[in-house]
Amino acid sequence: MNNSATLLRDLKQQSVADLIKRGRSGSFVYAILWAVICFFNGIQYSHPEMLYGNLALLILSGSGRLALDSLTPEFVGRHHKICGRLFGVCALSQALHLGVLASYIYYQPEFQSLVFPILLVAAGAAGAGAASLAIDKLVRLLFPILMVGPFFISLTFHPSGPNFILACVCIIFIFYIDAATKNIYTDYWAAILNSALLSEQAIELKHLSTTDPLTQLHNRLHFNNHLDKEWQRAYRNQEPVTAMFIDLDFFKLINDKFGHDAGDICLQQSAALLKKYAQRAGDALARYGGEEFVVFFSDTQAGDGEKIAEKIINEFRSLKVQTPHGEIELRCSIGICSYVPNGSTKQTDLLIHADKALYEAKRNGRDCYRVFESGAKPLHPFQIVTNQVQN
Ligand code: GH3
Ligand code: MG
Ligand code: MG
Repeated sequence: MNNSATLLRDLKQQSVADLIKRGRSGSFVYAILWAVICFFNGIQYSHPEMLYGNLALLILSGSGRLALDSLTPEFVGRHHKICGRLFGVCALSQALHLGVLASYIYYQPEFQSLVFPILLVAAGAAGAGAASLAIDKLVRLLFPILMVGPFFISLTFHPSGPNFILACVCIIFIFYIDAATKNIYTDYWAAILNSALLSEQAIELKHLSTTDPLTQLHNRLHFNNHLDKEWQRAYRNQEPVTAMFIDLDFFKLINDKFGHDAGDICLQQSAALLKKYAQRAGDALARYGGEEFVVFFSDTQAGDGEKIAEKIINEFRSLKVQTPHGEIELRCSIGICSYVPNGSTKQTDLLIHADKALYEAKRNGRDCYRVFESGAKPLHPFQIVTNQVQN
């Protein structure tokens, strides 16, 4: 699915959830108003079936709206089409019910005391309902039509001077509601579209600010933020953490010999190779700069880090990068440092000491790793352990 289709689907999902939420206040208001009108006019004694029958129907459709409102946003999102339709059916059936009821009452002499309040309720509900449900195109149009339409039709069947005026009023009223709610509809959709585009841009910006464009690995900024969090966690749990700097050997020469674009392919393939080694939760891999990568391993001791470094070095040795300018072999040097964080060590020590170990690996001929041993006491850089990977 392309981006605009996904965006449209997301907006539709949100609009259905919003429609249901906006309809909450109207769920039982018609039932309540109907009950109040009837009870104050003694309908419970004269025509109880009229009161309770209509009340039951209004409560039923109101319950449907409320039931939809009680669903989780995830469920509504997943089934937004059917939820939207069900809501439409409930809301529009209420409008039609009230519209038919008002037009029926208007012509029954025994219900004359109900005429004014029921017409008032129908007119008010037509405007208020259309306004609050205006975010759905169809509901916005049909709600006032179904509420006022039956009364208008009944007027045309009983032609008289006053009825003609009333019919004109109905038409003007419907057009007025349409004009007044059109802006609500367009404003709502413009607002959710803008907000969706803004959040998409925010996500894109965050991605750009934390991702290296060439390798698609995280960048140094992201790595440092990750390290801050993981260091605190390791400090709380008193777990060992390991950092590893991996630097490609003689990369300048590769660039010089094969060209910068071939060098770029090497960097991309190196990134792909390294990705496999930082898969656990809490681990992080980043391009730290140029041809230098950094890996953070949570809950990992130096010994385990050494095993990983050995594997990485061996994998680089067997890697043959195919480029348009020929096949390229890569080598790398690795510096490792491990700490169980304590009050006197900082996360920057971890990186500084891993970098020192990398420097030692370079000084000792490259294509190898070195470990800066850490402990409760800060170690002198000369205590670097010099494990050499054997060819
Ligand atoms: P050493 O073994 O001591 O690390 O030597 P080196 O040549 O790898 O290190 P040096 O720091 O001298 O050179 C790093 C090279 O990495 C120089 C630079 O052009 C290259 N480089 C840095 N970023 C990129 C990049 O994005 N693409 C390419 N193709 N090359 C890059
Ligand atoms: Mg290098
Ligand atoms: Mg370098």
